[in-house]
Amino acid sequence: MTNDYLIKAVCYGGQIRAIACDARELIKEAATRHQTNDAATKVLGKTLIGSLMLGVATLMPRSEEALTVKLRGNGTAGLVLADVTPEGFVKGYIKNKDVTDEASALGTDGILSVIKDIGMREPFTGQVPMVSSEVSANFTYYLASSEQIPSAVGIDIEEGTAFMLQVMPGASEETITKIEEKLKAKPKGTPEEILESLCDDVKILETQPIGFKCDCSKDKFSQALVAVGKDELIAMIEEDDGAETVCQFCENKYHFTGDELVDILRAAK
Ligand SMILES: [Zn+2]
Repeated sequence: MTNDYLIKAVCYGGQIRAIACDARELIKEAATRHQTNDAATKVLGKTLIGSLMLGVATLMPRSEEALTVKLRGNGTAGLVLADVTPEGFVKGYIKNKDVTDEASALGTDGILSVIKDIGMREPFTGQVPMVSSEVSANFTYYLASSEQIPSAVGIDIEEGTAFMLQVMPGASEETITKIEEKLKAKPKGTPEEILESLCDDVKILETQPIGFKCDCSKDKFSQALVAVGKDELIAMIEEDDGAETVCQFCENKYHFTGDELVDILRAAK
């Protein structure tokens, strides 16, 4: 278990829905697993945390639902992807880790896609064009444009904290103006302190642990190997007497011996 956590709250008598989190360990684990430099850690970490907050805000709690975010710009990072569960766990990767700063990694043009699997036959997909070379601004734009919820998303990678405010229907102009004013100062501190500094009348509804977690296993990879086909499997057995698979989400490695591949080949027939 980690010490990372997220709080859900309502503020201004329910006019604002708010989330804030402490995700320091999650960022550290993602960086360690993917061996990212500072710039890549920033881009990947912000995407993981933005996706996590979006998932916790929109997925049905304790359900089988899942959310995937793909941020694909014309910068050097290529695709940045995150998968979220309603329990508050996230996994993901950055395609090209060799980046120098956030802006050039993301680029100026691109698409933010959100794929929500809510157990229907077709998953729900929302897409918006990238509006910024900074990750969190694109989440803000997605919420306003695709989900039609005026929002503010802020992610501070150095502090390891983040917040998301959503304006509910019927919120007064006065409340919105107050928040806009408060947003000008960069909020710092614990998730509770961050919400207190951004909103009045904060009522915390729920506190939950969050973290980086991958659900890969050797069994899942053996199923994937069945799918690569007989000829490929025979080649792996004859040429290498084994195979090594690497999970792109968490970099865990799974080694298969030649004998194990023979068993998989039998299953493939
Ligand atoms: Zn994995």
